[in-house]
Amino acid sequence: MCGIVGYVGNKQAAPFLLEGLSKLEYRGYDSAGVAVMTDEGIVVKKKKGRLAGLSEMIDGGNAIRGTMGIGHTRWATHGEPSDTNSHPHLSNSGRFAVVHNGIIENYLRLRDYLTKKGFEFISETDTEVIAHLFEYYYKGDIIDAMIKVINKVEGSYALGVLCADDPDSFIAVRKESPLIVGLGEGENFIASDIPAILSHTKNVYFLENNEIVILKKNQVKIINTDREEISKEVYVVDWDVSAAEKGGYEHFMFKEIMEQPRAIADTVSPRIKDGRIVLDDIMLTADYIRNINKVYIVACGSAYHVGVVGKYVIEQMNRIPVEVMVASEFRYCSPIIDEHTLVVLISQSGETADTIEAMREAKRLGSRTFAIVNAVGSTIAREADDVLYTWAGPEIAVATTKAYSTQLTAIYMLSLYFAQELDTISPELLRKYINALNALPDKIAGIVENKADIQYIASQYYSAKSVFFIGRTFDYAVALEGSLKLKEISYIHSEAYAAGELKHGTIALMEEGTVVVALCTVKKLFDKMLSNIKEVKARGAVVIAIAEEGHTEIEKEADHVIYVPKCDDLTMPSEVVVPLQLFSYYVASLKGLDIDKPRNLAKSVTVE
Ligand code: GLU
Repeated sequence: MCGIVGYVGNKQAAPFLLEGLSKLEYRGYDSAGVAVMTDEGIVVKKKKGRLAGLSEMIDGGNAIRGTMGIGHTRWATHGEPSDTNSHPHLSNSGRFAVVHNGIIENYLRLRDYLTKKGFEFISETDTEVIAHLFEYYYKGDIIDAMIKVINKVEGSYALGVLCADDPDSFIAVRKESPLIVGLGEGENFIASDIPAILSHTKNVYFLENNEIVILKKNQVKIINTDREEISKEVYVVDWDVSAAEKGGYEHFMFKEIMEQPRAIADTVSPRIKDGRIVLDDIMLTADYIRNINKVYIVACGSAYHVGVVGKYVIEQMNRIPVEVMVASEFRYCSPIIDEHTLVVLISQSGETADTIEAMREAKRLGSRTFAIVNAVGSTIAREADDVLYTWAGPEIAVATTKAYSTQLTAIYMLSLYFAQELDTISPELLRKYINALNALPDKIAGIVENKADIQYIASQYYSAKSVFFIGRTFDYAVALEGSLKLKEISYIHSEAYAAGELKHGTIALMEEGTVVVALCTVKKLFDKMLSNIKEVKARGAVVIAIAEEGHTEIEKEADHVIYVPKCDDLTMPSEVVVPLQLFSYYVASLKGLDIDKPRNLAKSVTVE
């Protein structure tokens, strides 16, 4: 998820690796490390914390001799940020050093397998299985070992691997996690992103899934898993560094919107095994779940809006009462909770002060706490009784997109898990929902492809003074998020309303040209939404509707329609939010605002 660099050439490798990693710092990380081939074998240095700490430890790289090496910045997914869990990881004999970005989904099974074969694990990471697998399969041919390893592991990976037997070359591969190859004069590189190597070369290869690359200082060879050589076109980078950091996009927010399919797949697919939801680290027993009298979902901002969707999902699927509360209120409202109340806390950073205090209050009152968090090892993750990590990777833009989307999928999985463990869902229905979750990444990718239509609509209304978002049930929950997104980055006044509530007061604000975004994807409420659209149109509003594909009747009522792919109501919020994110993004962009760092806002709110 974070950063990889690799170097082979004539220069001292370690200073290059540090420099390359520093160019990847924008991706966020919690620890860093390097492995360099030296006359005495592979030397590994790694450290939790900032790159500066590692750099100090090895004197800016000068302390390690050697002209070939790999480096890594880690964003922990399995095992807290620590020196031991940092990469590179060594195999037991020290023959292999591995850096990895991504998630090995079947690592527990592999860990068991390798432990039985006598391998000793020293970290808590999923990555360490790869180092030992190399050792296990290696019979003198590194390519052969690599092919066996990638046939064995499931999940996402970009890998850089040093083998002590090969002092002049190293090997790398990728699947779903990014990795590029940089081509220099007498030196070659790998990196997870272009900025890491841009000051050394502009010539790169983009690797496809499971293409294996073997790098020497004067040669780069790419092969497939049948050992057939692949010839690739050299891509000449014409971006500057700052554009390159953002993957060629203008803003991190846009990049993160585009990353949502991947982030959702990373969060969902490792937890689905043989048609069941498997939450390995969760200690909630069927007995406990059966006796839950109430679920409280406590969070702030967008995470609170995830909670509102969560209420609809859990109440509908599990028939357990759910109360959603903003964290800053929770402590002061004498919540009625006991040991049968599950308090679910949602926070991207895991350091949100209001949510931390709410969690501590819930524990003090004797309830069980369950965290949905993105940052491994953060305060909420450590202190909650259970934690279900979202694997969105680091989010840089202040206004959340991919963290929100992965939190939503975490809520769906929790609700499905309850039903599965209590046996209150038929196998067919469980399968249907699991298929719906698995289908989300592709559907979202499809929505994003139609971004030009959304951009056009944004261009018509970016100077609006006020925008209303309306919807019913699930759509109402997403309307809250759509409205917040617009406020956060475009500074346009906006409100979200349950569509049926509008006529009880707020409709007084409708006048010629008022912009209303009407979310109309809840099937049984579609006709009711048509009536609500008529109500606001009669008062002069212009309506941008979001509807499910095929519901073309809406074109008669709304001024603009954005269609999203057909989908079950329960998982529809994951789709509907995407055009709203894009709409806000384009509005803010047309207004020329600082999208990634909106005024007055901070990424992680650590004050109460
Ligand atoms: N899953 C690996 C770990 O937690 C790699 C994380 C990353 O991509 O930085 O160690």
